[in-house]
Amino acid sequence: MTLMRQPGGLLRAADAGRSVLLKGWVARRRDLGELIFLTVRDRSGLVQVVFDKARCPADAVSGANEARSEDVVAITGGVILRGEGQRNRDLPTGEIEVLATGLEFLSRSETPPFVVEDRTNATEELRLEYRYLDLRRPVMQKNFVLRDEIAFRVRKVLHERGFLEVETPMLTRSTPEGARDFLVPSRVHRGQWYALPQSPQLFKQMLMISGFERYFQLARCFRDEDLRADRQFEFTQIDLEMSFPTEEDIFDAVEAFLVEAFAAAAIAVARPFPRLLFKEAMEKYGTDRPDLRYDLPLCNLGEEAAGTGFAPFEKALGSGGTVRGLRVPGGAAFSRKRLDELTEKAREHGAGGLLWAKSAAGEITSPAKKGLPEGRLERLLAKAGVADGDLLLIVADKESAAFAALAALRAEAARELKLIDESRYAFCWVTEFPLLGFDAESKQWFPMNHPFTGPREEDLERLESDPGSVRARAYDVVVNGWELGSGSIRIHRADLQERVFRVLGIGEAEGKERFGFLLDALKYGAPPHGGIALGLDRICAIAAGATSLRDVIAFPKTTSGIDLMTKAPASVFPQQLRELGFEPPVRPEK
Ligand code: ASP
Repeated sequence: MTLMRQPGGLLRAADAGRSVLLKGWVARRRDLGELIFLTVRDRSGLVQVVFDKARCPADAVSGANEARSEDVVAITGGVILRGEGQRNRDLPTGEIEVLATGLEFLSRSETPPFVVEDRTNATEELRLEYRYLDLRRPVMQKNFVLRDEIAFRVRKVLHERGFLEVETPMLTRSTPEGARDFLVPSRVHRGQWYALPQSPQLFKQMLMISGFERYFQLARCFRDEDLRADRQFEFTQIDLEMSFPTEEDIFDAVEAFLVEAFAAAAIAVARPFPRLLFKEAMEKYGTDRPDLRYDLPLCNLGEEAAGTGFAPFEKALGSGGTVRGLRVPGGAAFSRKRLDELTEKAREHGAGGLLWAKSAAGEITSPAKKGLPEGRLERLLAKAGVADGDLLLIVADKESAAFAALAALRAEAARELKLIDESRYAFCWVTEFPLLGFDAESKQWFPMNHPFTGPREEDLERLESDPGSVRARAYDVVVNGWELGSGSIRIHRADLQERVFRVLGIGEAEGKERFGFLLDALKYGAPPHGGIALGLDRICAIAAGATSLRDVIAFPKTTSGIDLMTKAPASVFPQQLRELGFEPPVRPEK
């Protein structure tokens, strides 16, 4: 009887007595003289195989003698229970081993550049160059099993709710998501360019106008931005769009699949997610992606700081800025050196400086003490709720700098004071973002999200007179200080879309040229619609507890945009360039 291949990692005590055929990689070899042990790895896990020289055919023993790490082998044998003292509790297969009767090499391996094990001291560069070996490591395989499960569950939830998965083009026109495009020259139409999609934004809106009502896609997106650990040139979004939705409908669909996705990693997520207005989030946490695993709110010290004659306060308040504080409970114990580091951190985030005041043993100490009128420091501390043993950090600056600096200090203080419960996943929705931002340099309004985001009906009358005060029907979903995704209810009327373009300085001609197809489509019965996109890579990284997106992307690029395995980007043949209408660069003669 021919044996079927058995995934070795699934063998358990109940399999004792069975004959099996294993196929996999040699993970480890130990030679104890009379016995040779091979640990065999396949996707299901690791299993120990023993070659007993007294009982095993000679050719199998000589195979086991020769076997080296990463050789691919086929092994036949019988499953036996290990003796009491021989069990390995660290391995799911630790109660059994396979007593080998035969070994065949399916493929041999050179000595790999690093040991293919969970714990590795290989540099990330080496791991990326030999990514196929890196991906053989069980920790990495686990990430991709989880990623597959998450993607499957997201699809299932959305499919069951009537969302259709529709693919949209990769070769398209530039979509305005605010990043730089990757451009692809057209061979057939010389001088014309495709752009790789920054998102399927306009296509999903078209699908709503097409009457599809509910669309989703695990969509590849491309943005030519500077890379960081949490960013890649190409990434995958869970992209969706609905017709006739309220914000609640979108939140409901997203919460439903997030609960399922995180359950794949045994992470319980409670619904409904709390809601925060953008303004609230900024006032309270200094950021629109607050980490709600701890409280530590900021406070507005503007009233107490006004009229003190204290130069930093006067300067900030006099130029439309603000004075904000952060109470650090127990922070009076922070050393001078630590306070200097925090000041440095505040500066890194754009603040001119950092003031502090400590309350300890009934005494208030602060470098600002001398500069402030009698009793004022006490009022500032009282407003911030400072108790004995606490520290108050104060930033007097432009609002954006004060918020950015204090948000960073809040996160730093929470880490230092061990206020973060690492087992928690604190989701929230942030809503009512401003529709537009103002770029002081170009003196132009720009869309905070993209130019198709719908304004709130009640703010519309101020669209031209006071654009900065108009709130958008936009929302973000946030977890533990990460922005997981953002979306909005869209503009579905051509006249309003044209009005928004005008405010953005997109003239009629430019609007027609770039978005004519959208403006046309909006004239043929566009349903009210809205949607959202969430980063799948980020969801997987958080669920897997990975520190980098690269650990959940099979073939990622380095922070400088290089694929170390294929060595992309690379030069191409001169003929390819000529076909595209480019002159090959002249190389100096060797
Ligand atoms: N297209 C947007 C983005 O990629 C998401 C959305 O508005 O649905 O960020």
